[in-house]
Amino acid sequence: MQTNELYFTRAKNSIPGGVNSPVRAFGSVGGTPRFMVSATGPYITDAEGREYVDLVCSWGPAILGHAHPQVIEAVQAAAARGLSFGASTPAETELAELVRERVSVTADAAGGSAGAPIEKLRLVSTGTEATMTAIRLARGFTGRELLVKFAGHYHGHSDALLAEAGSGLATLSMPGSAGVTAATAAQTLVLPYNDLDAVHAVFAEHGPRIAAVIVEAASANMGVVPPERGFNRALSAIAREHGALLILDEVLTGFRVGPAGWWGLEAAGVVPDGADWAPDLIAFGKVIGGGMPLAGLGGRADVMDFLAPLGPVYQAGTLSGNPVAVAAGIATLRLAEPAVYARLDAVADTLSAAVSSALAAEGVEHSVQRAGNLFSFVFSPEAPRDYAAVKTQQSFRYPPFFHAMLSAGVSLPPSVFESWFVSAAHDEVAILRILDALPAAARAAAAA
Ligand code: PMP
Repeated sequence: MQTNELYFTRAKNSIPGGVNSPVRAFGSVGGTPRFMVSATGPYITDAEGREYVDLVCSWGPAILGHAHPQVIEAVQAAAARGLSFGASTPAETELAELVRERVSVTADAAGGSAGAPIEKLRLVSTGTEATMTAIRLARGFTGRELLVKFAGHYHGHSDALLAEAGSGLATLSMPGSAGVTAATAAQTLVLPYNDLDAVHAVFAEHGPRIAAVIVEAASANMGVVPPERGFNRALSAIAREHGALLILDEVLTGFRVGPAGWWGLEAAGVVPDGADWAPDLIAFGKVIGGGMPLAGLGGRADVMDFLAPLGPVYQAGTLSGNPVAVAAGIATLRLAEPAVYARLDAVADTLSAAVSSALAAEGVEHSVQRAGNLFSFVFSPEAPRDYAAVKTQQSFRYPPFFHAMLSAGVSLPPSVFESWFVSAAHDEVAILRILDALPAAARAAAAA
């Protein structure tokens, strides 16, 4: 039988590090990455035939669980009609309308005061492209150069956004990336998250040169660190006051934490002090493509119309709006009804409480981090509000915890700097398997 070990050895010969995205290499938890061959519902199966309850969910897209029959059916039907046309399709407009409807329905429910942030949507293939386009667009629209981002936030791997980013860079302790020129790096100003004084200060100093502030709607790439009350709303006001744009990155949160993403939760008042504001641009990814390579950038019509062919900001893609990916996205969004979100919230409640009590029973200091149905754990007694605080945790406790769970058949994100992801397919049987695995994993964390 081909083992994970053998597949990894073979992969390292022809793929850098044996992986096509760094965090998959198990760099910070050690051991051999699992090579996956199939997934269905809450389960994923590796090349050795071992099945795991999956709490990675493809890093977000799989909110319905893996291989939902209706999504697969939609994908198969689309594939049978042709894989890529390089021309417009009716389904792209359908998806754009669906996104517009969903995002403004929540605003209307809240009284309509927050407006409808998605007036137009351009489809791309990855979250990286969505945020990269957002920045170019913001620069083109404002005629300004500087960009403000927050330490520990990950917005994909375009040059301008790699400074002090979360996700794989946090896992590998990399402050940035080789290959990004000093000139590019100098145009990105990095601030501590949740620190409005720092935002005011940077605008006081550089205001007329700042094109945009980009922020994860709720940060989840340094583990989960939610925005403090009113933070996003204040960012929007400060940016507006100075003629800069606010780019809300909902690649991870969009259509996952609620029907209209994190902004929808704020607009509907689910998040206190969040109502009555709207970002200028929103980047989507992950769930919008239901597991296929699809992402999008949406926002104010006057800004979006600055994109070619109407405007002077160029952006394009051979596979943009790919018909098979769009079919997966439409099917996923149509199935993602309120009951799905209620289930995701309930699963997140159960699991976060269970992990916390297992750790507490072993005397492991930790804090539960939560943003909607996204959650993670930091090994420190106090909830961090920014990246500097996240980094002070006892992260050495995570690898043994992770491996104990993996041996018991539960696949967690292979880094303490990532969120856990649940799906509506995580039923009582899957949850019980996770709960059964927790005491031994907590003991392993305590013994580290
Ligand atoms: N923004 C956020 C908030 C993300 O979490 C990610 C990916 N994890 C991205 C952007 C980049 O998306 P992609 O990996 O599809 O390029």
